[in-house]
Amino acid sequence: MNAIIPENHPRISKMILKKTGVKVKQSMPGRMRIRVNSLQRRVKRAGWMQEHLRRAEGINSVEIRSATGSVIVFFNPEEISIKAILQEVVEQILHPVSYPEPSEPLPGFKSLCKSCDCGSKVAYSTKLRRVVWLSTFMLYSVVRMWIFRLPLAQNPISLIGLVAMAGAATLLKEAVVDVAEKKKLTATPFLAFGSLATIAMGQAFSALQIIWIYNVAELTEDYVGQRSRQAIRDILEVAPANAYVMVDGMELETKVADIKPGDIVVVHTGEKVPVDGVVDEGDALVDEASINGRSEAILRSRGDNVYAGTIVSQGVLFIHTIKTGEDTYLSHIMQMVEDSMSNKAPVEQKADELAARLMKVGIAATALTLLLTGDPMRALTVMLVMSCPCATVLAASSAVTAAVANAAKHSILIKGGLYLETIGKADVYCFDKTGTLTMEQPEIIAVLGRTPSITEESIIAMAATAESHNQHPMAKAILAEADARNLTPEPHAVCEFKAGRGVLCTIGGDAVILVGNRQFMEEHEVDIRWFNKRAAAQREMGNTVVFVAKNGKAKGMLGVANPVRPEAVRVLNCLRGDGVKAIHLVTGDNEEVAQTMMNVFPFDDCRAALMPEEKAARVQELKKGSIVVMVGDGVNDALALSHADIGIAMGVGGAEVAMEAADIALADSNLEGLMKVRNLSHKTMTIIDQNHYMAVSTDLIGAALGMLGMLSPIMAGMIHIFHTGGILLNSGRLLSWEPPVEPMDKCRGCLLGCKCGNANCNRKCKTC
Ligand code: ADP
Ligand code: MG
Repeated sequence: MNAIIPENHPRISKMILKKTGVKVKQSMPGRMRIRVNSLQRRVKRAGWMQEHLRRAEGINSVEIRSATGSVIVFFNPEEISIKAILQEVVEQILHPVSYPEPSEPLPGFKSLCKSCDCGSKVAYSTKLRRVVWLSTFMLYSVVRMWIFRLPLAQNPISLIGLVAMAGAATLLKEAVVDVAEKKKLTATPFLAFGSLATIAMGQAFSALQIIWIYNVAELTEDYVGQRSRQAIRDILEVAPANAYVMVDGMELETKVADIKPGDIVVVHTGEKVPVDGVVDEGDALVDEASINGRSEAILRSRGDNVYAGTIVSQGVLFIHTIKTGEDTYLSHIMQMVEDSMSNKAPVEQKADELAARLMKVGIAATALTLLLTGDPMRALTVMLVMSCPCATVLAASSAVTAAVANAAKHSILIKGGLYLETIGKADVYCFDKTGTLTMEQPEIIAVLGRTPSITEESIIAMAATAESHNQHPMAKAILAEADARNLTPEPHAVCEFKAGRGVLCTIGGDAVILVGNRQFMEEHEVDIRWFNKRAAAQREMGNTVVFVAKNGKAKGMLGVANPVRPEAVRVLNCLRGDGVKAIHLVTGDNEEVAQTMMNVFPFDDCRAALMPEEKAARVQELKKGSIVVMVGDGVNDALALSHADIGIAMGVGGAEVAMEAADIALADSNLEGLMKVRNLSHKTMTIIDQNHYMAVSTDLIGAALGMLGMLSPIMAGMIHIFHTGGILLNSGRLLSWEPPVEPMDKCRGCLLGCKCGNANCNRKCKTC
């Protein structure tokens, strides 16, 4: 089965798609991502498109990223075809139908705030202005009352009274929107009425305090969110605006947007590489930290791949352009990060619920205080303490945002808080072999001809011809070998890849070349018995065997050494130490090679010679009662990655569809990222717990003191400022935290560490 429908599959007139600026970026059964140029940064139109598609039969849900114009459609392939979806999209572009604004932001619909993508309805700059003028009047009142000891008029028509009323009016406006649109109880109505009542009681300064605290807390929350988003963007800073392109032997400055595949781009010392490509000429040290997080620059010369967003730190490179703009590796990563913002972690949702519950307790406590004591000032202090649920909401969201930013800094891209939370609890891991546990470029160590007249060169040349457009690790090894022997692949007409098996290609009219494993040869009735002994010897050494056949006759055999990644065994052992119950191998390679892997790695079980859908089925089977993680790199892993609770893809060297299907990507392909992300998950949960304790306990103690009349309104306000600040600082610790690559020595449940007495034991303590 071919799980992935190629990009150009829908044959709805390509001309129309091009004319309307519609491009299918990725398409899997049930999910497709389309880029629509005319939706970029056009929030309203994007909303209409979303509503239009949602109404189509067979479409389950639609997500739109208005920053990039991406439309992600989840559909039922049995009810609607890709072609029909594209027709709906084109129809809406050509004859836009306007839909009334949804009463509630649709899931996945962001960018309401015009200045950033924080999701807020009010722009950051407006909030900032509000805080500045409120602070000015706060300062005026404080200086007047406490420094000059002058009286301050606080009735509703005094200066402070009017300012407080203006502040309360904006709160009231927000409150009306909250009640009318979201149809749920939020803090704002409570706060708005509280402040108005306080002003009416001639306590305008206390009302001003409530309004000021609320606005400062909101602004701070936005600021932390923006900082974290910016931290992610900085790390993955996008390509430059202009670059130099060789035209008739001259370097011409050109807009990066105008560079096309095939152009030769020149990049000098200190400049950023604008495209993905292969070095055509020149040597240079390239800083690739933005792609793989490695701090030291790497020498790149003729034939090496270079990526957009990396920096030439010394030298000059002439680069043959292969991918530009949104097709570059960096762009793909950017999109993933963008996606990540819309996936809320369950703890974040729980925090929202807790905040709503605390609100109700707050209202009851305020009413009760008023009833029991008859003292409006006491009731006011209780309300002041309980009114802002910002701290409770912030407890989870600030920690998750900071952790996702931290992960990005370590080249781990997490597509949402949901996956960050789940990964720490995962108890079964499935690994793919080639390219995941082994290096992305294996090496050919044996070439064998069927007869003495078939030379090693002719076998390699044949294989390289068939593999010349393939990204599979085996293809990379064959192409590297051909390059080392100065062999150029022949041009060919048709080429057909079979994931997990090999490749079939037709050259010069009717000659058919097959390159692949034993099953692939058997499927095409190629007799390979002659190689049986030699192939067995190679497999015994743990090498992969690839056969080459032409016109139905076996021509040669390649022995490919596939060294395991140096960190792989250690990482798997660490995963066990961190409580992972079972580790499985699911590979498309042969039983013998899988057995050699079993001897090296602490696997519980292995399944060999699996086709993509069999890998997915195996993952599905393991999911019963367990949280399953699948780690893979290839096209053949995409299905399994999307079936697992969490799919983790290898970045550099891995297939793009794998990155697309995964929930987490290790951008630098370093398996240590698996441990880092688990530890980050544990740490984030610990910090969220601490934040919750801080938020709830100060609220409750403060309210109790307020009821007893032991707290002044000003002190109540201070409590808010301190615990909101404390929570933000506590979460902020995650931004600079270094996640260890070994299990953390503290028990994540009780923070006391394991008490088993073994100094090296890293497991949970017995009590939890
Ligand atoms: P894994 O699941 O371990 O990553 P794959 O499923 O990608 O491995 O591949 C399984 C086997 O299929 C490889 O070991 C190789 O023998 C063969 N194979 C797959 N693709 C190719 C290819 N393009 N050229 C040659 N052999 C291939
Ligand atoms: Mg693989």
